[in-house]
Amino acid sequence: MARYLDAKCKLCRREGEKLFLKGARCHTVKCAIARRAYIPGMHAFRRSRPTDYGNRLREKQKTKRYYGVTEKQFRIYFREAERLKGNTGENLLMLLERRLDNVICHMGFASSRAQARQLITHGHILVNGKKVDVPSYLVKIGLVITPKSRAKSQNFVKERLEARKGDTPPAWLAVDQKKMEGQVMQKPSREDVALPINEAFIVEFCSR
Ligand code: SF4
Repeated sequence: MARYLDAKCKLCRREGEKLFLKGARCHTVKCAIARRAYIPGMHAFRRSRPTDYGNRLREKQKTKRYYGVTEKQFRIYFREAERLKGNTGENLLMLLERRLDNVICHMGFASSRAQARQLITHGHILVNGKKVDVPSYLVKIGLVITPKSRAKSQNFVKERLEARKGDTPPAWLAVDQKKMEGQVMQKPSREDVALPINEAFIVEFCSR
């Protein structure tokens, strides 16, 4: 294995879990976690046992990295989740799930959230026929998401969809691969979050 590890893979190694930050590569044997499922560093095996604080911090960091949001953005989502009715932890995850970059990634228009963010900021994505270049845009039920009619945008999305042929999007999204069109059918539920996250730990950490 090459000594140099991509920064994204380093994040996974630090969390000790696959965060799926590099698209198709994450599902192959080339995945750094699949090769070495332990934290990096010379003294990795001498690190002390994690504390309660450490466990809660890890859950927060893992979630932040998985969705690719900054600490400041994460705190804003948390405050919004607290304000909403229901379970704060679930509200937080549902808000993050509804981000446009996450939705694009689930639909197969991009192979990773980072790539989805780039696709959006470069103006390749339309929501209900209008350009949206804000990755944090929160999608609502009924919205239709398509690539721009420009050949460059269409070809890019077509290639990504072909590479993900056979993958089924989560139940709250519908994708028509031929039309290159995705629609939000319902609100996401807790079961739609694939990454194992203990949201109660995040709430405890952020409420301190
Ligand atoms: Fe790298 Fe993806 Fe594997 Fe994480 S899951 S270590 S980002 S290849």
